[in-house]
Amino acid sequence: MSKKLLVGPATVFTNTPGNSVVPNAGVLCANDRIERVAPFSELAASNNDATRLSTDGKVIVPGLINAHHHLYSTFSRGMPIAATTPLRNFPEILEGIWWRLDRALDLEAVEAGAYPPVMDCLRWGTTTIIDHHASPNAIRGSLQALARVCDEAGIRANLCYEVTDRNGDQGAVDGVQENAQFVRDCQSHRAHGALLGLHASFTVSEQTLALAARQVDPATPIHIHVAEDGADVTRTREQFGKGIIERLEAHGLLRKNSILVHGIHLTDAELDRIAAAQAWLVHNPESNANNAVGHLDVQRAMARGVRVALGTDGMASNMLRAAKSAYLMIRHARKDPTVGFALPRKLLFENNVLLAREIFAEPRLGSIQAGAPADLCVIDYDPPTVLDASTFDGHWVFGMTESPVWATITSGKVRMHRGEFLDLDREKISQRVLAAADGVWERLRQMP
Ligand SMILES: [Zn+2]
Repeated sequence: MSKKLLVGPATVFTNTPGNSVVPNAGVLCANDRIERVAPFSELAASNNDATRLSTDGKVIVPGLINAHHHLYSTFSRGMPIAATTPLRNFPEILEGIWWRLDRALDLEAVEAGAYPPVMDCLRWGTTTIIDHHASPNAIRGSLQALARVCDEAGIRANLCYEVTDRNGDQGAVDGVQENAQFVRDCQSHRAHGALLGLHASFTVSEQTLALAARQVDPATPIHIHVAEDGADVTRTREQFGKGIIERLEAHGLLRKNSILVHGIHLTDAELDRIAAAQAWLVHNPESNANNAVGHLDVQRAMARGVRVALGTDGMASNMLRAAKSAYLMIRHARKDPTVGFALPRKLLFENNVLLAREIFAEPRLGSIQAGAPADLCVIDYDPPTVLDASTFDGHWVFGMTESPVWATITSGKVRMHRGEFLDLDREKISQRVLAAADGVWERLRQMP
């Protein structure tokens, strides 16, 4: 017998053609799929046996998708950094913070450290993530460790290991192997997805790019940081005599649906090649501001036909705020109050959805309709004016992205409800995370 969950009554943004906004609706889930979206009273009368989640006066949107995350970032908060460590520019931030933190992670820290951001995803209505992982002293099995946490929390995840040469030849080979193994694992168990992860052009040698292209299934798109800072562009040219996109093309790695993260310092010609390859750029406005690396001109990229999605780059797990930031920053950067109003909806409900549908092979993911995965975000929002399809953007930008998420449902199961996690023991997890943090920070203190 199927397990049924009836959610409603609520205003439901279905994200189906026409962007319909349905008042007084219910969403009936059966097992991990949506069975019907219909007037709540009708569903309630005919489904007495279904478990109920009463959402009176709230708004239901499809579960949100984060197109670029780093679950391994957890232990950076307040981490010990020597006062003499320079952090004046992006390369120094990488060397002083991230390339120390990732070397301090063991397998337990990878797994324990994934809980806080995964729980934050649920706290803010995100049900699908695309993650980019690094733990050079615990490579083998790291993606399965992340997958276990995502499974336990009920998050749909696409995972990869960021291959790099900065930890020697063996580190590069092990990174390629971890990707290749996880790609194979996902082919036999479809719960999650896999990409070929690469750190960034300036830290990956020609030999390693060739190895990755050879050893990982050629149908697998790549996930790589691209032109986040000018240093990636100049160091790539100095070391390899080519541009970043040219290098990827030369190795057959500019594959369809590849995820090129940031893309701030790309030329028009490079954007055109990305568009022609049907790859994606992922915009991370908050992280870019934090690192002071510049701002992706989303309008320019989209005008050249590039598909742009939205992520958080591991700095946070709140896609509502990321979308709001994208809106504010495009107006600020272009000094133009006529741009960006529809951008938060377009990024979250069109582009991130299309990207996730393609890489997870789930054609109805990110919509609320019969047959779609039952992933829902219930927002505690009382519209002060009429909320319908014609006014949705105004409510989304100024109201819903500012409102608390009241419940998050994935695969037809309530995972977070009013701040409580139904499948996770917060206290036990917190103890485990703090114990892992002690170990990571001790290793950081001892690191030369
Ligand atoms: Zn990143």
